[in-house]
Amino acid sequence: DTLINQIAAGEVVERPASVVKELVENALDAGAKRVDIDLEEGGVRLIRIRDDGHGIPPGELPLAVSRHATSKIASLDDLEGVATLGFRGEALPSIASVSRFLLASRHRGSDHGAALEIDGGRLGDVMPRPHPQGTTIEVRDLFFNVPARRKFLRAERTELGHIEDWLRQLALARPDVELRVSHNGKPSRRWKGEGDLLSDVRLHEALGEEFARHALHIDHSAAGLRLHGWIAQPAYNRASADQQFLYVNGRAVRDRSVAHAVKQAYADVLFHGRQPAYVLFLELDPRRVDVNVHPAKHEVRFRDARLIHDFVYRTLHDALAGTRA
Ligand code: ADP
Ligand code: MG
Repeated sequence: DTLINQIAAGEVVERPASVVKELVENALDAGAKRVDIDLEEGGVRLIRIRDDGHGIPPGELPLAVSRHATSKIASLDDLEGVATLGFRGEALPSIASVSRFLLASRHRGSDHGAALEIDGGRLGDVMPRPHPQGTTIEVRDLFFNVPARRKFLRAERTELGHIEDWLRQLALARPDVELRVSHNGKPSRRWKGEGDLLSDVRLHEALGEEFARHALHIDHSAAGLRLHGWIAQPAYNRASADQQFLYVNGRAVRDRSVAHAVKQAYADVLFHGRQPAYVLFLELDPRRVDVNVHPAKHEVRFRDARLIHDFVYRTLHDALAGTRA
C-alpha cells in the first residue's frame, strides 16, 4: 500500500508548496479561521500546519490517512455539486508515504487530543496527546525515502517562493481567514483575518500599492453568472503575468478561455497589447463547471465555455470603456 501511495504522491505532491496547498485546503474545509504555517528550509525540512477547525476524533485518525477515505463525499451526487476544496481522499496518505508525518488533533466534541505518527508510510498507533481544538500536521524531510524525487527540489528560496505565491493566491480568496507564516523560526508573513470582503489592505499587500490605486472595481451578474473583483485601469503600466488572479467559485484556476476574454477586452478598449492585471472572481452554479479535470485542480472545464467567455469579455469591456469617458 505504501508503494501505491507513493505513486499517487507523484500526482499530488510535486514539491513543498503542493503539500502546503493540500494541508491548508483541508484546514479550510474543516472550517478553520486561523491557520499557522511553520516552515524550515523552504518546507523541505519541515512543514507544520496548525488550524483551529473542527478537528478529528481519535478513532478517525487512522481513517484520515488511509487511501480514498474522505469524509467529504456521501454519494456520487455530491461529486457533481462538490463545494469543499478537496474530495478525493488521497492527499494525506500520499504525503505521509513520502515523509515523516505526524497528525495531531482534538475534535470539537472531545476533551482529549490524540496523535498518530507515520514514518515513510509506516503507520504508528494512536496515542493520547494534548492539543487545542483543531488539527496540526507536521511533514518532515519530504521525499527522504524517494531520492529520485528529492533530487528535483530546488533551492530553499525557490521552494519558499512557490509556497508564498500560493498563499498570496489563497489570501485574496479568503480574507476571512488569518494566515501566519514563519520560516526558519522567524515570522515571515501575516495575513490578518478581515471578514468576508477582500479589503484594500489585502489587495494592496498582495499586488502592491500601485495596483490598488489603479484598480477598477467590477461586480456584474447576468444569466446566472457573476463576475466581481478588480482590474487595473489603463494608467497602470506595471502589470505582469504574476498579477493575474482568476477564481472560479472561490478556487484559483488557470483558464485559457477566460484569460483570453480578459486580455481581449483590455486590448479592444485600450487599443494596445499590454498585459492586464486583475483579481477576478467568477461565480456560477457548480454543476456548470467540472473542477475534477486535473488532480492538482488548477484547471476547470465549463459546460458552456463560449457563454462564459462572452460574459467576461462583455463585462470587462463595458467597465473599462466607462473609464475612458
Ligand atoms: P480529502 O481532503 O480529499 O477528503 P485528504 O487526504 O486531504 O482527503 O484528507 C482525508 C480526511 O482527513 C478528510 O476527508 C478529513 O476528514 C480529514 N482531515 C484532513 N485534514 C483535516 C483537518 N485539518 N481538520 C479536520 N479534518 C481533516
Ligand atoms: Mg484534502
